[in-house]
Amino acid sequence: MSRQETVTVSPMATSAVVHTVPAEDAPFAPMFHSGSWHRGVSGRTMTVRAAANGATLAEVPNATAADVDEAFDTARTAQKTWAAMAPSERGKVLHRVADAIDAAQDELAILEAFDSGNPVTAMRRDVAKGAEIFRHMAGLGHLLNGEVIPVSTEGLHYTRRYPYGVVARIVAFNHPFLFACGRVSSAMVAGNSVLLKPSEHTPFAALALARLTEDIIPPGVFSVLTGGAELGAALTAHRGIERISFTGSVGTALKISEQAALSGHIKSMSFELGGKNPMIVLPDADPEKVAAAAVRGMNFTAVQGQSCGSTTRLFLHRDIAAEVMKHLIPRVEAIRIGRPDDPETEMGCLISQEAVDRCLEFIAQGVRDGAKVVAGGRIPDNPELSHGPYLLPTVLVDVPDRSICATNEIFGPVLSVMEWSDLDDVLQRANSLSYGLTAAVWTNDVGRALRIADALESGYVWINDVEFRHYAVPFGGWKDSGIGAEYGLDEPMSFTRSKTIVANYG
Ligand code: NAD
Repeated sequence: MSRQETVTVSPMATSAVVHTVPAEDAPFAPMFHSGSWHRGVSGRTMTVRAAANGATLAEVPNATAADVDEAFDTARTAQKTWAAMAPSERGKVLHRVADAIDAAQDELAILEAFDSGNPVTAMRRDVAKGAEIFRHMAGLGHLLNGEVIPVSTEGLHYTRRYPYGVVARIVAFNHPFLFACGRVSSAMVAGNSVLLKPSEHTPFAALALARLTEDIIPPGVFSVLTGGAELGAALTAHRGIERISFTGSVGTALKISEQAALSGHIKSMSFELGGKNPMIVLPDADPEKVAAAAVRGMNFTAVQGQSCGSTTRLFLHRDIAAEVMKHLIPRVEAIRIGRPDDPETEMGCLISQEAVDRCLEFIAQGVRDGAKVVAGGRIPDNPELSHGPYLLPTVLVDVPDRSICATNEIFGPVLSVMEWSDLDDVLQRANSLSYGLTAAVWTNDVGRALRIADALESGYVWINDVEFRHYAVPFGGWKDSGIGAEYGLDEPMSFTRSKTIVANYG
């Protein structure tokens, strides 16, 4: 896409079509709630730009508390009918959504690539997975059950689970379509109406999902409100929204906690937050396999390292470090970085120039702290990529534990490599941060691997693997990385609440 081109996102179509039009002719994409498309009560808008070159994609509403009020009222009414349907009937609706996603896979993937900067080939996988998640969730409704507790012969003591009502789901920018699918389907199958707030950087995946499903999902059950922090604050403070789930940074999660508290009401909140995830490699591991895994674990491809679960702290035993690095550096340097819409591209661009600048500042500080750059560390030479927020996949070695490159989430393509020689010491280093999202351990010693997995203070641990996650398996963080879990049965279950009923036979 050249600088003059604008991708028009038809408000009433899922397709992204590349046209050469001036930015001032960019279309307006309304948001979706109450079963129809809206400009927003205030009429305020935000410009959404293509990540790769800043070209204007469309104007979208910058929604406010008044929009939340409007959307909420219809969502509440719709939810009562939705919750009264048999779980299998709700499941049928989710299956139809999955079929509609499959049929629009190519358009959704290219839209996602323009919006987020992620490579189109990877986004095709995300879209396919989005459909699979709807199918997975579709079958779980009847498993959201309570229990009978046999405490007496005089009556029945049992629990039942009920939906919360209208729930808010606020998400990050890095997997826009996948997040929309996971967060919407899990809350819906449990009988809730969902108000989804996508990131202000990447609203189109959620809007496209609304467009695809407007004739499938009953009006009001699924809404997409577009906007930034102000809209997020309005959702979290709304009196009627008792369940909030958030995917994003620790800082925003703290603000959400504060906003919810200041609303004067108690809310159920779950958080999927950042990580600075350790990968510990023991000396008996295969260096070549470790090198391949360390690269895969960084998610350099698909999301340019912008993944919460990336194993960004690689702890190599000193006896194996040199051999691993011999294989790792050429693998990193071989990654094909290019335009997100090019099917050959393995690594696209970051979400914004600010994100690139932030990564470069981290790298510079890491070097001042004593680290060495052994791959990347700069923007690519390719002139075709000079106008976008591209950054080469970067590897730092000899990173001191006190360096911000060893302690802070960078949320970009920067891997920090450190060495170790004492297992207790490396475990202490791995657990020393306030983050606790993912971790990985690599060794052929099964007993040791299991003991290390037990000792790691993280919500998700791989043994001899990295990056792989399945929607049937719960994923969530410990410590500052979050509360609760996504996927599996846990996520839809967390969108129900329990009631205990005590019945006396009389
Ligand atoms: P962010 O916290 O800046 O924004 C996330 C969402 O919160 C956006 O929709 C934003 O508009 C909204 N928001 C901003 N201010 C708000 C407020 N005051 N009240 C309510 N909502 C508000 O995060 P980001 O930059 O989009 O994403 C990057 C972060 O997300 C990283 O820390 C990453 O690790 C984390 N993340 C975690 C997971 C996970 O599953 N654990 C997945 C993806 C991303």
